[in-house]
Amino acid sequence: MTYDLLIIGGGINGASIAREAALNGLSVLLVEKDDLAAHTSSASTKLIHGGLRYLEYYEFKLVREALQERERLLRLAPELIRPLATVLPHENAVRPWWMVRLGLAIYDRLGGRISVPHSRGLRADDAAYQAPLRRKGAGFVYFDAATDDAALTRAIAADAVANGAEIATQTELVSARRDGDVWRAVLTGGREVVSRIMVNAAGPWVGEMLGRLGINTRAHVRLVKGSHITVPRLYEGDHAYMLQQPDKRIVFAFPWHGETAIGTTDIAVESPEATPADTDEIAYLCAAVDRYFTRSITPGDVTGTWSGVRPLYDDGASEAKAVTREYVLELDESGPPLLSVFGGKITTARRLGEDVLGKLGYPSTKTRDRPLHPAPEGFAP
Ligand SMILES: Cc1cc2nc3c(=O)[nH]c(=O)nc-3n(C[C@H](O)[C@H](O)[C@H](O)COP(=O)(O)OP(=O)(O)OC[C@H]3O[C@@H](n4cnc5c(N)ncnc54)[C@H](O)[C@@H]3O)c2cc1C
Repeated sequence: MTYDLLIIGGGINGASIAREAALNGLSVLLVEKDDLAAHTSSASTKLIHGGLRYLEYYEFKLVREALQERERLLRLAPELIRPLATVLPHENAVRPWWMVRLGLAIYDRLGGRISVPHSRGLRADDAAYQAPLRRKGAGFVYFDAATDDAALTRAIAADAVANGAEIATQTELVSARRDGDVWRAVLTGGREVVSRIMVNAAGPWVGEMLGRLGINTRAHVRLVKGSHITVPRLYEGDHAYMLQQPDKRIVFAFPWHGETAIGTTDIAVESPEATPADTDEIAYLCAAVDRYFTRSITPGDVTGTWSGVRPLYDDGASEAKAVTREYVLELDESGPPLLSVFGGKITTARRLGEDVLGKLGYPSTKTRDRPLHPAPEGFAP
């Protein structure tokens, strides 16, 4: 058979494209060389958020769209997404009070109507929020949302499969070539498949994939590694902390499976395969927490780590933390279409699926109001 769409990559972006396409009646094959969400889509900070700090880079469009998606996901997937109170201790030396207050006021309003509470000042009687902090005092509380990124990816993939998509894990796209008006691809084990359209949603491998397909492109991917550490629970409660660092970066501390997770770093890398957190990253994250919390942590307290590689669209920014988090879709129509996905966020993957379909000439809003439930027990494509 000839598929309408062959999707490379079973991260959240590939899964979201498969779901939107399947609901739109297209025949879809998604191939994933490892397991669903085996790479970047299980290594995030697990936030469903507008991205408060992107306001500093004037990324108003990105933040507005992400806030709208946050709101939509809270409504459509309450079993997978939960509201997250985030405490932002004030540190005047890093950013003046008025600037943070203004940023939060914009953040509260930019996405339109919101169901979570508006931001507010941190109060002396916010006992649970103040308890772990070394300096009890000024700060803010604002609201975002949190998820389990891998579980969300699997939920999306399960809905795609329930609507007719085929997903093959442990299946690599080894090579592919254009032949008239179709793509002929060779998969792991020598299986050959034919598709009218190919979508390159290979995450950090997007550039390598283009090379493998022999496509010259102006677009470049910039690979930025981010690591998290986990330590025995640092505080009671299900809220998070946004900790401003002297280098102007921010580090989150949040509850994760009974422990506290802390992340992330930003390190330019060459390889799409994430290497484990190194000693410098672990020391950086321990120091980031020590600046704010009474309980001091050392590398010896670390119970686990996870690292992922952000596949960011290279917009020429000099610093990793300043590279746009907006996704970019590049369509090559020098033969049967090839659409490549650069960048993105867990938060905006559903929207990305819509945009991909639109760009391929199949405008679709099928997932816009469609409830999303966790993948059924034992779902193993
Ligand atoms: C440290 C960190 C923190 C983040 N925090 C957040 C956050 O809090 N909130 C948020 O919204 N976003 C966050 N993000 C961004 C988000 O995680 C990514 O944008 C998203 O996971 C990218 O998904 P993807 O599907 O493009 O890539 P991936 O999840 O990496 O999926 C690509 C898949 O393609 C597969 N593949 C590659 N080559 C082939 C091939 N030849 N054949 C078959 N399969 C192939 C790979 O195995 C991989 O599984 C964070 C990212 C990082 C790294």
